[in-house]
Amino acid sequence: MDDKNRYDDVVEEILEGDQTGDAPSGKEEQTKKQNNPPRFCTSCRRPEYMTGKLIEMPGEVLICTDCMQRSMNIMKNQDFARFGFPPNMVIQGDFNNIDEVMEQLSKLTGQPFPQSNIKIKPKKKVQKKPAENEKDAPDTEPTLSLKTIPAPHKIKEQLDAYVIGQEYAKKVISVAVYNHYKRVLALEDDIEIQKSNMLMIGPTGCGKTYIVKTLAKLLNVPLAIADATSLTEAGYIGDDIESVLSKLLAAADNDVEKAEKGIVFIDEIDKIAKKRNTNSRDVSGEAVQQGLLKLLEGSTVEVPVGAGSKNAMVPLVPMDTSNILFICGGAFPDLENIIKQRLLSRSTMGFGGQLKDRFDHDPHLLAKVENEDLREFGMIPEFLGRLPIVFTLDGLTSQMLVSILKEPKNAILKQYQKLLSLDEVELVFTDEALFAIAQQALEKNTGARALRAILEGLMLDIMYEIPKDPNIGRVTITKEYVEKTGGPLVEFRSEMAYQS
Ligand code: ADP
Repeated sequence: MDDKNRYDDVVEEILEGDQTGDAPSGKEEQTKKQNNPPRFCTSCRRPEYMTGKLIEMPGEVLICTDCMQRSMNIMKNQDFARFGFPPNMVIQGDFNNIDEVMEQLSKLTGQPFPQSNIKIKPKKKVQKKPAENEKDAPDTEPTLSLKTIPAPHKIKEQLDAYVIGQEYAKKVISVAVYNHYKRVLALEDDIEIQKSNMLMIGPTGCGKTYIVKTLAKLLNVPLAIADATSLTEAGYIGDDIESVLSKLLAAADNDVEKAEKGIVFIDEIDKIAKKRNTNSRDVSGEAVQQGLLKLLEGSTVEVPVGAGSKNAMVPLVPMDTSNILFICGGAFPDLENIIKQRLLSRSTMGFGGQLKDRFDHDPHLLAKVENEDLREFGMIPEFLGRLPIVFTLDGLTSQMLVSILKEPKNAILKQYQKLLSLDEVELVFTDEALFAIAQQALEKNTGARALRAILEGLMLDIMYEIPKDPNIGRVTITKEYVEKTGGPLVEFRSEMAYQS
């Protein structure tokens, strides 16, 4: 008998029983049927012999596994509207992912369901550790303390080993960082020291990010690098402003306390300048500046753990930003023109008027920046007010580029020399070759970033050819090779022995 016929028979039997009250097959069988009437799935109405064992729910509801699975799938896709959950539901528990929440929801089936406003309490890992535990915990990493924080001259000395030039910037940042951590570590004092958030202005590729990265490594504090261009006002496509703190939390291995003493570097800050002549809402400009205000100043913010934006399924953790050091950086193109205009408008009045092109070739024009120039550029006064330390970095000269090639601890030339030394080959660059490389990098206008690309191009053939011949002992990169008018100078081991 096929399923359809069996189904019809069962329905018929029930109807007959209902109507007549008599069973054709005798009294015993009738009692048996009354005691065990056929069961149907409340949702799809299929009988139990077709669906397999039915699950009993509160309120005499029977559900087959198919229907149960289907409703779980709908819930998984967050289609809560179909269930018509009443508003303000909060399901609290030790959840980490959607499956765990669903398990809890399924237990609640049959209860009135609140809406999709589900708050997931993060697991212990992202919660603050209780104070007693902290004392007992073994110190695995050297943490910052008033005694261990290096003095400004020490910080700068360490920066010098990696960052070429930018003396003024290194000095300002060393003092600011030193003061910031003193402030953080001596909070119980009655005199409150102002937060020393910073704004770095300098052309692209001049070392802004590199200084901050080096600094965070030296101090062993978590660092998050965020790009202001990806931020938008909450609710619009893009990352929420709090996502910069999510990155910091991730950098601190989800340890809130550690993250609360970290550094956040927001790059491309000039891209969130107020848009001029726009009638639409400025969701990625002025609104982002407004949104950043509360972070910069110091407040407790709900931070999404491991996501770019807040939504119902992302766990939130409260984070206090008052001890986080915010450093903003940007190239601010055209700022020089604004500064020039201001200087000229002040100096061209009266008889002592100055020539209009007086500031055209001033290499330190950017250093003359004032708050009003940044306001003119499109930064709002409240935002600038929360970045009390403003300093500029110099554009790189060819001499600085040559030094960047060969002097820092992990200089690119040293890296190539190390690679070739493993083949017992000496790699030499003539001074003219280095200047030619620097010249090519300057033309690309991307600062020191261009250096690696140029060197990669030069070294490819050499790294390919040299291992072919074990007799090669030294390769000299010449100006002609860099300018593609000649080849590198290759010397064999026998010649070198003869020379020495
Ligand atoms: P930006 O100023 O645009 O943030 P970066 O700091 O990212 O530029 O610089 C790009 C790369 O160039 C760095 O990773 C670093 O290797 C190199 N670099 C830039 N400036 C310097 C410098 N002053 N000293 C040493 N290396 C530098």
